Amino acid sequence: MAESKPIHVLQLYPRDMNIYGDFGNALVLQRRLQWRGYEPILHSYDPEDEFPEQVDIIIGGGGQDSGQDKIQQDLLRIGDKLHALAEDGTPMLMICGLYQLFGHSFRTREGREIKGVGLLDLRTEGTDTRLIGNVVAESKEFGEILGYENHSGQTYLGPEVQPLARVTKGEGNNARDSHEGARWKNIVGSYLHGSLLPKNPAIADFLIAQAVQNRYAETIQPQIDAAGSAQPIEELTRKARTTATRRPR
Ligand code: GLN
Repeated sequence: MAESKPIHVLQLYPRDMNIYGDFGNALVLQRRLQWRGYEPILHSYDPEDEFPEQVDIIIGGGGQDSGQDKIQQDLLRIGDKLHALAEDGTPMLMICGLYQLFGHSFRTREGREIKGVGLLDLRTEGTDTRLIGNVVAESKEFGEILGYENHSGQTYLGPEVQPLARVTKGEGNNARDSHEGARWKNIVGSYLHGSLLPKNPAIADFLIAQAVQNRYAETIQPQIDAAGSAQPIEELTRKARTTATRRPR
């Protein structure tokens, strides 16, 4: 039997930060790791839980302002651990509410300051306008990125991070500068739900590639060729992307 090669995927705060299909990101990582011959081990971490010893990929989703309040103290508590993992090159994907809290701060519409964990050089301000709808954004690294946004916080990037992509439809980080998301080390921050990874496998494979490189010093093939699959996987993925592009705003 082939030797099993575990890859540990940690989802942060699924109880409070997990909306508009964000759990789909965990499922896509699970399947794509399996198809590539790795053994995905999914962990979830909620406030006060024990932080797993082994972590190869960290993902986090969106939530209401009230959910962000609930997890903030705990997020600050595990901040040093997250900083150390990020410095070591652990790939991370943070969506919307957790993307905001990976920054320095989020000032809510009511003027309350929610301190972030400061991994990404960005700040967010609550506004009275909700940015809602399907988004298309162009990234040099990942090509065209598709997703769905729904947020009233607007995010402004500092000089330490790069935008993830340039929005061609929808708003992204804020209503002013047509940036979507942020990149720093192996962290991808984004406003896009939907979920993001089923429609954007290039981002899933980026996270997987970093993880297997870090743990096993292995590289992954660009295309998945799963034995026994009735329809080539990459073709199904392309169909999902095509459908997503046609979705009305
Ligand atoms: N509460 C935040 C906002 O509206 C995050 C929303 C979300 O995660 N979808 O800006």
